[in-house]
Amino acid sequence: MDKRLLDLLVCPLCKGKLRYNQAAQELTCPVDRLAFPIRDQIPSMLVEDARELPPEEEVEGV
Ligand SMILES: [Zn+2]
Repeated sequence: MDKRLLDLLVCPLCKGKLRYNQAAQELTCPVDRLAFPIRDQIPSMLVEDARELPPEEEVEGV
């Protein structure tokens, strides 16, 4: 995914910066502990699509 695009994207809930988890192809919000999927290079920023990170899972990505 384009790094410039990542800079433009914010969490739809808290408007905070997201982390890019390349391995999982997800954008994660460490505040809300949500992971937004990236499908075909296009991140889905819908809360309905997001995966809740379980407490034992580290928030991965940069
Ligand atoms: Zn958030």
